[in-house]
Amino acid sequence: MSDYMKENMKTKGISDSRLMSLWRKAVLAHNHHQCLLCGRSGDSNLQCHHVIARRRKYLRYDYRNGVPLCVSCHQRCHTKNGDRELSRVFRHYDYCLDNENVIIKNYLVNRGMTDTDFMLEKKKELMYVINKDNWT
Ligand SMILES: [Zn+2]
Ligand SMILES: [Zn+2]
Repeated sequence: MSDYMKENMKTKGISDSRLMSLWRKAVLAHNHHQCLLCGRSGDSNLQCHHVIARRRKYLRYDYRNGVPLCVSCHQRCHTKNGDRELSRVFRHYDYCLDNENVIIKNYLVNRGMTDTDFMLEKKKELMYVINKDNWT
């Protein structure tokens, strides 16, 4: 790794992969460590599905945009029928659709935030959910 990259990571404060791993923990905690569709449990059996594709950065690290699913339910959710099924039972589904088109660049400019500010804010939110929901 070059010095430039190392320096860049330091000033960024938090990496994408670290945030994604916190996101997964928060999604699991927030949804009782169970597949939302069939109830199967055990974190190692569960994958976390982004309702809105993760390239939409505004929702990429949002715990409300994630659903724990077992492998077969996850596969189903990538079909039209499975997604419809998910839309009926997932409580944050409408929230996801409502925010699908938020442009991260505009969002940051309007708030005078940098990308780093945004990521640190998301980190705080995810840590909060992980701590709160794991004990209820
Ligand atoms: Zn399942
Ligand atoms: Zn998925």
